[in-house]
Amino acid sequence: MIKRCPQHGFFREEHCECGLAGQLILDEARTEQLGRLVAGGLRHFPLDLGLEMDSRGWIDLSKLGEVVQKRHRWANKEMVIALAQSDPKQRYEISNQRIRARYGHSMDIELDHPECHLPRLYYGASEEEADRILEIGLKSASQRYVHLSTTPNKAWDVAGYRTGNPKVIQVDAAPAREAGVKMMTVNDDIVISEMIPARFLCILASKDIPKTGK
Ligand SMILES: [Zn+2]
Repeated sequence: MIKRCPQHGFFREEHCECGLAGQLILDEARTEQLGRLVAGGLRHFPLDLGLEMDSRGWIDLSKLGEVVQKRHRWANKEMVIALAQSDPKQRYEISNQRIRARYGHSMDIELDHPECHLPRLYYGASEEEADRILEIGLKSASQRYVHLSTTPNKAWDVAGYRTGNPKVIQVDAAPAREAGVKMMTVNDDIVISEMIPARFLCILASKDIPKTGK
């Protein structure tokens, strides 16, 4: 559900942080429906929707507004903006009347987020995946960039959704970058990287992973 506070913009809780109930923009079901369509168009199949994407992943916001309205009569450009600006994972960015996904593309595009300077990064995997990654290096099977976490417990949480016994791989990021691996900061939680050779990777002992209490 997405609501709008006249003072503070779009939000996804019952009430805005200021206490106002706000105006309903999208209910739960429509948030989900529009979210799937926008994610698909910006990350996976813009051409199928008749959207033109530039080499950095940008799409004209008004054009996307027209496309979503064609699919769902109730939808419009304002709702796309509401969806993007209230996204809890900061998946989208809007600039100069254009919109793009910040990460998660399955198409071959060249993102230009700021360079990452963190010395170490983390990747959560199942035990079998971890063994394989330590042999062949870390890369995404379906995407151009692999998604890394900025802390070990975030990586643990990510892998915990998929496997009962997550392993956290530590990436020695500084020397990897010196060796030419491009890494970019997407948001506070996520860094995207090109393929990382195995010599920069090791498994983090579970005693070194702070538990989040989830
Ligand atoms: Zn407010």
